[in-house]
Amino acid sequence: MASYRHTESALIHGGNTIDPLTGAVNIPIYQTSTFQQKGIGLEPEWEYARTGNPTRAALERLIAELEEGTAGFAFASGMAAITAVLSLFRAGERILISSNVYGGTYRVLDKVFSAFDLRYSIVNTEDLQELERAVAPDVKAILVESPANPLMTVTDLAGVAEIAKRHGILSIVDNTFMTPYLQKPLALGADIVLHSGTKYLGGHSDVVAGLAAVKDPELAKRLAFLQNATGGVLGPQDSFLIIRGIKTLAVRMDRHVENAEKVARFLKDHPAVERVYYPGLPDAQGYDINSRQAKNGGVMISFALDDRHDYRKFVASLKLIALAESLGGVESLVCHPATMTHASIPKEIREKVGITDNLIRLSTGIEHIDDLLADLEQAIEASTV
Ligand SMILES: *Cc1c(COP(=O)(O)O)cnc(C)c1O
Repeated sequence: MASYRHTESALIHGGNTIDPLTGAVNIPIYQTSTFQQKGIGLEPEWEYARTGNPTRAALERLIAELEEGTAGFAFASGMAAITAVLSLFRAGERILISSNVYGGTYRVLDKVFSAFDLRYSIVNTEDLQELERAVAPDVKAILVESPANPLMTVTDLAGVAEIAKRHGILSIVDNTFMTPYLQKPLALGADIVLHSGTKYLGGHSDVVAGLAAVKDPELAKRLAFLQNATGGVLGPQDSFLIIRGIKTLAVRMDRHVENAEKVARFLKDHPAVERVYYPGLPDAQGYDINSRQAKNGGVMISFALDDRHDYRKFVASLKLIALAESLGGVESLVCHPATMTHASIPKEIREKVGITDNLIRLSTGIEHIDDLLADLEQAIEASTV
């Protein structure tokens, strides 16, 4: 039995990350590709580091515990995790994805898996009836994000899991934006939870990593096989960095969210701002559902300035907040979804779902709130046309 009951403690003590050999309170970076075996046919615990490495294994136990699963998997990137999970499916099968799914997820399905005849359909997963109608006999999984990038659309995760169970298919949740500190998809009934560890779990914009966790032991076996067979594993150094990042997740997220709530209200009240997307605002789409399934509205905000302001000038005028891909680091970043994160989605589809050219996405960092608001204010002023 664990000696703690709260996620805040599990972030620090979960997954047994104390080194069993020396008692070091941090699992060492086992920088080795292979392990000496005791003899032929003696079933070694460790054999080759693609199959398993003690540092990576500590992180895998940790993410399994945090997501309330039975097994965790660490990959070289979020996309490597997603690729391994999509490799569960076969030619002729179909995956339903949310209309605002991460651009790279859309791209790997559209440009890579489609060549192997794994099919996908884009569905408005905020509408569970529309989703259920799309579950044709060839559909084997539903892959969603909530809130989904970049319009922060909320999907009812328990509702998706229920539909999936009723049809005997898998529900997969990319939980990158919320982290297990704010939302636990497996506990809501999902079969597979995915992460880009590059974002909040790492938390310092210094490592690229991916994670997955599952509850069902059979599914765990299939994923372990695919992780080893396709080989996109996380190295020991980066596994160590993600474990280190996760230890401070709760305190970072608390400050991230506190800042995000203030920034969202500032933007909402600002006369130059035409639209704000943040699931923590009471009049946001899916506010009630999000409040039910997550601790709060998270950190990510998107917004659009009105046509009296030029979004290019706005971005160019920011002094503290940097223009960069990615999110989830301690520093605030903005990105331009239409040309950056969502550039791989064709313009017609983008406009149809609301990813207009003037949309700006903000990853609120943990700087002092007054400095963030001042930077936003001066950049809005400088962007007047
Ligand atoms: C960044 C991201 C990914 C991809 O992860 P990488 O670590 O960049 O490969 C997947 N899903 C979401 C929601 C992301 O933000």
